[in-house]
Amino acid sequence: MSLLILALALFNQNADAQLAEGYRVLDSDKRYIESFKRPELVIDHVNYEGYEIYGPAGLGEYLTKMNIPHINEASLKDANLGPDHPTAEEIESQIKVLVAKCSSIMQVENIGKSVKGRNLLFVKVSDNPNIDETEPEFKYISSMHGDEITGRDLMMRLLNDICDNYGKDARITDLVNNTEIYIMPSMNPDGSNSRQRWNASGVDLNRDFPDFSTSDNQNSPVGRAAETQAIMKWEAGRQIALSVNFHGGAEVVNYVWDTLPDAFPFESMVIDLSLRYSKLVPYIYNSNEFQQGITNGYSWYEVNGGMQDWSYYWHNDLQFTIELSNTKWASFSSMPTYWSANRPALLEFIAAVHQGTGFRFDDKATEGSVELVEYLSNASRGHFNFVGGEFYKVLEPGKYKMIVSTKKGVEKTIYVEVPAQLSLTSDNYVQL
Ligand SMILES: [Zn+2]
Repeated sequence: MSLLILALALFNQNADAQLAEGYRVLDSDKRYIESFKRPELVIDHVNYEGYEIYGPAGLGEYLTKMNIPHINEASLKDANLGPDHPTAEEIESQIKVLVAKCSSIMQVENIGKSVKGRNLLFVKVSDNPNIDETEPEFKYISSMHGDEITGRDLMMRLLNDICDNYGKDARITDLVNNTEIYIMPSMNPDGSNSRQRWNASGVDLNRDFPDFSTSDNQNSPVGRAAETQAIMKWEAGRQIALSVNFHGGAEVVNYVWDTLPDAFPFESMVIDLSLRYSKLVPYIYNSNEFQQGITNGYSWYEVNGGMQDWSYYWHNDLQFTIELSNTKWASFSSMPTYWSANRPALLEFIAAVHQGTGFRFDDKATEGSVELVEYLSNASRGHFNFVGGEFYKVLEPGKYKMIVSTKKGVEKTIYVEVPAQLSLTSDNYVQL
């Protein structure tokens, strides 16, 4: 019986089958990988040894019957880690204590609930956090895969660091005063509490977003996991220009696209931004597996329904996927080491959102579209929509023309320049 027919017989599958089992398949020459590219299965973290594979109940039995060498993911979890990571409830109370302590620059935004009713929390960090100012918007989200825990801890340390150093450290003060920073330490609190990848309904959240290259190509939250819906609805009302989505199981900065082999329209810029992170983190930059610690997503392995591609394609939010530690559930006692290695890059990447330009209207209800044109070559660099009376885009240094059209029929052409030297304090918006 062929692999494919047996798979069909075993899983009696449908595309929404719940994930229940995970394995590392030891398939160094990738003999079996094509047969696993099926809607009910998820492939992740391809490397020289093999890859991870997740699927419904029965997957392990199938691998055994087929004599495909594999290790149960659960057995890779170290049971003797010493003091373990906080629970989702502890993280939530730590966030509330911290925000109360630094309430002049931090505010909690509760954007919805997980399947089990846990709060999905962003911390907004900015001066005047209760006011929507026209400043470049940046976000960090961690641990949409619940068992990839390192980023959640680093986000908590970053928030504490900003709280402690605002008003003392000039760079942190400038960042907070001139940026709207959103940090979500835990996108999948149910998964983290069960130390599992998927959410409480067995959904892999990083395969659950709309994908412009598949048949699931409508930007609608209907029918998706609770956590996915919460992110989608929140993002639609913001103008995030740059973001990172933190994972574990590898050590690399991954850039668009994940879903297609096509080059990204601003490819040299995304490579430059990836290097800006990796160069500051020696253990990532000196990778044996990825040159300079970066990779194009698709050339590593294809991901459909990922958050990274969705956020740029529909919301002009340039997102990177950063894998922070080869060990997914790295020991709690190792967190200070990861933090000190990543701290400079975490701050530098927030600053990078200031490499860009945009415009604002007095009327915050203004919506419309903008054509971005390179000034010297007169070549179009794309067409983008804007809401909320503002538009902002991270761009390579250079001169650009923006042809702005509002829904009320106003047309304006503006000339803008992104300087080579990054400034945190200059106003990057043209008033219209
Ligand atoms: Zn992940």
